[in-house]
Amino acid sequence: MDSLTHETEIQVFRYLAKIGCCINCCLRLISVRNPEYYINPIEISKKLKYLDESSEISEENPCIACLGILQQNVKGQVLDQIAEAIKAEDNDSPTFTCALSVPMSLTLREKSLDLSIRQNLSLPPADLSHLFLRIESIKDVWKVQMLPKIESMISKRSISGGTPSPFLIDISLIHDRDESDYEYLLKKCDPNFHERRNRNVKYSRNNIEKVLSTIDTDKFSEFFPIPPGKPMGPIKIDKISCSHAGVFVGGRYNKLSRELSQTPWFINGEKKMESSVQDLLCGPLLEAMRADSLKFLSSGREDVDVRTLNSGRPFAVELVNPRRTNIPDAEMKIISERINSSTDLVHLTSDLRFLEPGHLKTLKDGENKKSKFYRALCTIKDSSKKGRINLEQLEGMRNVKIIQKTPVRVLHRRPFAARVRMIYRIRGRWLTEQEIEAFKKNNPDDLVNNLFVLDIKTQAGTYVKEFVHGDFGRTKPSLGDLLGEEVDIVALDVTGINLHWP
Ligand SMILES: [Zn+2]
Repeated sequence: MDSLTHETEIQVFRYLAKIGCCINCCLRLISVRNPEYYINPIEISKKLKYLDESSEISEENPCIACLGILQQNVKGQVLDQIAEAIKAEDNDSPTFTCALSVPMSLTLREKSLDLSIRQNLSLPPADLSHLFLRIESIKDVWKVQMLPKIESMISKRSISGGTPSPFLIDISLIHDRDESDYEYLLKKCDPNFHERRNRNVKYSRNNIEKVLSTIDTDKFSEFFPIPPGKPMGPIKIDKISCSHAGVFVGGRYNKLSRELSQTPWFINGEKKMESSVQDLLCGPLLEAMRADSLKFLSSGREDVDVRTLNSGRPFAVELVNPRRTNIPDAEMKIISERINSSTDLVHLTSDLRFLEPGHLKTLKDGENKKSKFYRALCTIKDSSKKGRINLEQLEGMRNVKIIQKTPVRVLHRRPFAARVRMIYRIRGRWLTEQEIEAFKKNNPDDLVNNLFVLDIKTQAGTYVKEFVHGDFGRTKPSLGDLLGEEVDIVALDVTGINLHWP
């Protein structure tokens, strides 16, 4: 036999009821684990003769085992506050997962009840070994009774066990006075109490059970009453909060301005530029999904003065705690169009779409593993040397290995290192007549006859500007080294990022 005899169950149940346990605690402390028993606990208790037909269990005082968590009054308050929180949040998730946190002192109260039964009832030894061995937890009983009520009240389906719903309702219950009693006992009985407190390590349920198992009855009763005392007032709701896990949206963008940073640029809390790629792309999304904030992620980043053209740069954005996540494709298309019509500095080259978490790895990996294409406008520093330059020779250079020391311009934020990078392909040509005319229109005072166009395919992570001008000899070989003349860079565009995305 691996449970209490029915006679002992009745005896223990009635004793617990007499000293101030609620009906649910009487059942769970005699190890009733069948959820059906908790649907109508009074009826079943009478049927199984735990309770007399005529007897009632008063709900007037807070239960000495659960501090009222499983009593009508507290459960009603919790339901009211959940209703309020859900209304304020207005989240469109069809499901939810409920998390309940309860005071640690409940473990102490259970230990005290166990000792109290052993001291006050003369139970057969066989039953004593089963006493409090398989009791049902407060949280499990609470869930059996409360989740169906919450479900029908907020019209969302509860998910417990397995993968939780992204929408979490977090309920925290506290009882200050009880917590201080329990702190007092631990202070007196746990040899590691001061060390834990100094290191600010919280007790887990397991830790406490371990400590309790080392304390003998005499010592325990010195610091904690047996049976547990009546709680000083009922338990309180500390807070009920709702939150939705982050949702990821991805796409590709063109950056068409040479005066736009990728992310907002702050110096001493002051925004240094009017806008950013992030602001322009994500503002409308943040608004539509009613999120608290966002995190912008992209496959690499471009400098303020660099454009990204053609198929565009892959990016993702995490919406933090969004209220609206069920957005149909057609509406995502409208949001994408709204973003594109709101600015000519950036442009989405693919409609925004929702991403699976696995997608982000592709983006992160792409940052370092994939190849990238660039077009640079370059200039021969000494125009008298133009005649000596043979741009066509570049075409024959394949897979040129270069070594780049961390560029001077990023040394303040990147560690010093020397990295090997590959220039897979390279091609140069002088400007066409049309290009010269276009350039003159925008830069009437600049020299044009020593300008040339460079197209290169590089390994991700190559510093292209430094490859062109050599960065005071810190990149070897540089384009200047390959051509045998000093060259500089006038403008740079990213023309392709090889990544299947989104
Ligand atoms: Zn109770």
